[in-house]
Amino acid sequence: MQPSDKALVPFVSVDNMMRLIHHVGVERMMTEISDQIEADFKRWESFDKTPRVPAHSPHGVIELMPTSDGEAYGFKYVNGHPKNTSEGLQTVTAFGLLADVYTGYPTLLTEMTMLTALRTAATSALVGKYLAPKGSTTMAMIGNGAQSEFQCLAFKALCGIDTVRLYDTDPAATAKCAANLAGKGLTVVPCKTAEDAIEGAQIITTCTADKKYATILTDNMVGPGVHINAIGGDCPGKTELHRDILLRSEIFVEYPEQTRVEGEIQALDPDHAVTEMWQVMTGQAEGRRDERQITLFDSVGFAIEDFSALRYVKSAIEGTEFFEPLDMLADPDDPRDLFGMLMRAG
Ligand code: NAD
Repeated sequence: MQPSDKALVPFVSVDNMMRLIHHVGVERMMTEISDQIEADFKRWESFDKTPRVPAHSPHGVIELMPTSDGEAYGFKYVNGHPKNTSEGLQTVTAFGLLADVYTGYPTLLTEMTMLTALRTAATSALVGKYLAPKGSTTMAMIGNGAQSEFQCLAFKALCGIDTVRLYDTDPAATAKCAANLAGKGLTVVPCKTAEDAIEGAQIITTCTADKKYATILTDNMVGPGVHINAIGGDCPGKTELHRDILLRSEIFVEYPEQTRVEGEIQALDPDHAVTEMWQVMTGQAEGRRDERQITLFDSVGFAIEDFSALRYVKSAIEGTEFFEPLDMLADPDDPRDLFGMLMRAG
């Protein structure tokens, strides 16, 4: 028996996601996703928001990230397992779903491991556009794993940087990142220490993975005027920056209720002042005030960014071959005759 068209859900596999990204272009796709994220952040109040729902284990974390704007509903399943790379597996993998609030029927199922890298970099660079010093040319990229090339290219596309200085505790990761970025329009400088990497950088991105209170940056390493894009600290007990840096910085977050539990600011008092990025984008709050201020984006990744990315993909695949119709909803002709549908199939 053939399923009806309305019960077929477009499914974007990893293979098709990669074809879509090549079709659009990596930098263009991150720029377009960032436009979608910015538009959604500007209508922040129309979303149902909740901190993501984590299931912690000694091995890592598995999280569900739901949100809705009243018309569409989306969620992402994502894991964070820093020990995975030593076993030949990814630290972060994800898939996500979009649904129609009116019928409750799913309208898109997609891989989101690639898409998360794109949306995380798109968010970082979008925030960088608001907070990084004007005319920034150089970014230190500390942590050269799966997210790193995406971060570098998003800051090139959206913030106009032309140089990245790479550092990772594992030189093989730095070599991989440098090789992947060759010929992509950036001057790439592999560095032997984090101190060396931040030399002359106006933007510092930390994107490391270790399930501990790490100190990738200490206070004496951070000079006035820099913008710090802190990506890797995104779980209770998993941070990257020394507390003294936080005390010298103006801190910007996605959704405080989630960031206070998961972000760098878990090291601060629960009422420490932070600024929400959506308010900066709508003009209700100030971004960078002056050239000497240290701005810190304490990124943990929020559900609205995934919702924006899901909606982007849903419209980008329309009229293309970058998806397969998936028979994942039982939809009998007589809605109450589910059993009859089963018997007829026998
Ligand atoms: P990955 O495991 O592929 O890469 C992490 C890299 O960090 C590795 O190459 C590792 O050698 C390096 N590293 C570890 N400790 C270091 C140190 N002290 N100094 C320098 N380098 C160090 O992980 P990934 O997929 O690139 O993700 C990186 C981090 O970003 C993870 O912690 C992940 O949870 C987080 N993340 C955050 C968001 C967000 O929205 N904020 C989204 C995706 C991933």
